[in-house]
Amino acid sequence: MISQGKIDWSTGIDEETPMPSSVGEFFNRVSFVAARVTDACNIQCSYCNAEAGCSTSPKMPIATFRRFCDGYIPSSQFKQITIEFHGGEPTLMSDAWFQDAVNYAKEKAFLWDKELTLAMQTNGTLMSEERLLMFRDLGINLGLSCDGPPEVNDRRRHKGHLVEQTLALAQKHKIPLGLTLVLNPGNYKCIREAMDFFAKYGIRGYHMNFLEPQGRNQERLTVDNMMEGACAAFHYMADTNCSVIEARTQQMVNRFKLGRSEGLHTCTHMECGAGKWFIGMDWTGTISPCDTHVHEFALGDLWNGFDLERVKVQLTDFHRKGAWYIKCFTCEARKVCTFNCTMSTHKNPDVRDAECEFTIRMHKYMLDHWDAVEKIFNKLQESPRNRFFR
Ligand code: SF4
Ligand code: SF4
Repeated sequence: MISQGKIDWSTGIDEETPMPSSVGEFFNRVSFVAARVTDACNIQCSYCNAEAGCSTSPKMPIATFRRFCDGYIPSSQFKQITIEFHGGEPTLMSDAWFQDAVNYAKEKAFLWDKELTLAMQTNGTLMSEERLLMFRDLGINLGLSCDGPPEVNDRRRHKGHLVEQTLALAQKHKIPLGLTLVLNPGNYKCIREAMDFFAKYGIRGYHMNFLEPQGRNQERLTVDNMMEGACAAFHYMADTNCSVIEARTQQMVNRFKLGRSEGLHTCTHMECGAGKWFIGMDWTGTISPCDTHVHEFALGDLWNGFDLERVKVQLTDFHRKGAWYIKCFTCEARKVCTFNCTMSTHKNPDVRDAECEFTIRMHKYMLDHWDAVEKIFNKLQESPRNRFFR
């Protein structure tokens, strides 16, 4: 889609093309951008859904990031906006790149009276003490990917000992970290062990994603594997007074007791926010509804802009629910259901079927373990932040 003749891809500098007005019109609806600033990665996890390449794969030139800020920050209708640095592995970008990018975004946000949140999802293996403190000082909230203690983590990921070092450094400097664990055939039997490991480093919460056969990963979780991992997290929370909170369990328990929140449509609503308030962008400035498979689902880019009528049709197609969902309207588990990720369902409808079966079984399991639900729920109610998530 991008007219390549005009752009020097090594710098992102394009002297000829002014920002098309449709870029601002498109960004008007957006409050969260997951920016895949590079496709490069320094470790090669076996299940990478981004199919990240080696450390030398392309990176976003600073001029492209600045152009993105020019399009997004003044145009968003929202006061509170977020930029999340993703990859590949975003910490492969240089310190100078981050300093320039963050200062430019903050300056723009200040000029346009926006409250800017910055976040980053990292594998945590390139984090010296100095870098960790630099990210803290730049105001970037860090989310780490970790599948458990090093020996468990390294069954599908790599360099778990460096992830552990980053956890220890963050604890030393009291830097809060978000954590994502991918439940996979290598760790679904080790969830209690993983939660003990997180507790040791002062991590109070994490999110468990189920492995999906996307990108270069061909492995699958069975529904039994999902149940084993999810039930371990559920009982760990009940047994330890929620010393570590797993977010999927937290949301299921809150929804089980209180019903669903009808606020902003997030990943766990039947129609998610992809392409609406939430978008993904890759290192070239190509925009898609979410941050994986950007080119396959591209809506437009920072140079050629957007055909907004076409975008409407693309998003209608992207979010269209087929006859498969009719059964959801009479399903008892609907109250706690996440309906599977829209992008993942496009790529693998059978993953949606597995998650559906998991949800029905987990809902029944919660009905059969009422005491544990009550224990978790009562503990979550003590904090407004934990109560809110449903
Ligand atoms: S559990 Fe399955 S049938 Fe029930 S609401 Fe969820 S996706 Fe629909
Ligand atoms: S496509 Fe998936 S990850 Fe993206 S916003 Fe929707 S549910 Fe979330």
